[in-house]
Amino acid sequence: MVRSRIAPTPSGYLHIGNAINFVITWLWVRKQKGSLRLRIDDLDTLRKKPEYVDDIFRTLDWLGLDWDEGPQSPDEQKRQFSQLRRTEVYNDFIKETVEKGKVFACTCARSEIQLHSHEGQYPGTCRNKGLPLHQPETALRILVPENSVVIINDIAQGEVKVDVHKVMRDFVIRRRDGIPAYQIASLKDDLDFNINYIVRGEDLLYSTAAQIFLANLYGQNDFGKTSFYHHSLLKDEQGHKLSKSAGSVSLKAWREQGRKAEEFYLTLSKMLGEKQAFTSLNEMLQLANLDFPLLINT
Ligand SMILES: [Zn+2]
Repeated sequence: MVRSRIAPTPSGYLHIGNAINFVITWLWVRKQKGSLRLRIDDLDTLRKKPEYVDDIFRTLDWLGLDWDEGPQSPDEQKRQFSQLRRTEVYNDFIKETVEKGKVFACTCARSEIQLHSHEGQYPGTCRNKGLPLHQPETALRILVPENSVVIINDIAQGEVKVDVHKVMRDFVIRRRDGIPAYQIASLKDDLDFNINYIVRGEDLLYSTAAQIFLANLYGQNDFGKTSFYHHSLLKDEQGHKLSKSAGSVSLKAWREQGRKAEEFYLTLSKMLGEKQAFTSLNEMLQLANLDFPLLINT
């Protein structure tokens, strides 16, 4: 059975790009009679705000999306489903990574990394310093040897080979502030909740590669069999990637202007290259052509 998830982060109001990702995931899961989970990535307590959690539920409701697992309300999210409740699970996973892989401590500030690297890639400054692992203000990085090629099984592109060393270098598994890195938390959740189908933006392709690298380390090869769909990203009129900070395109702003979800679905059907104009999720489910690749942003 197809098991997928939508995984918003409560660090800003959701925008059209997020909604497109959720709708594609929902459509695929419902077409396959699979199961969908809502997971709210709320480990980063500095950026998280309760109104952003509320906004996730409001937006999903406005879109008409439903899901089978995970929280049904902000209150339930906080009480039962917060990732903060799984901190120990992630930390154990990090411990296991330290045992299985070559992990080293890194005390570099972001500005130092920028200064000494090309294109912001980590230059390996602390690789051979042998710094103690468990100190404040210390990140943990995993050593990724050259030619660490992983294969991503992408529904639209087929087998995509990525050299994790080239694109991620020695990536962070625990942040300087002690928070488990996204790669760890996301992978651990996907493994524990038996997710086998993941839809994400193409900006996360290298994260997928990093997560497969980690999963291979644990012998969790099933994660490598996960089907992925990395869709292209919606751009604004200037051709920039849409970000949550661009408040004008938040769906909260749409709702406040009294705009209906119909308008969103009309926009989306155009993006998907559909000849028909859909005004609701169920119309799309019944009629949309879901052959991959979906023609987003062409
Ligand atoms: Zn360093």
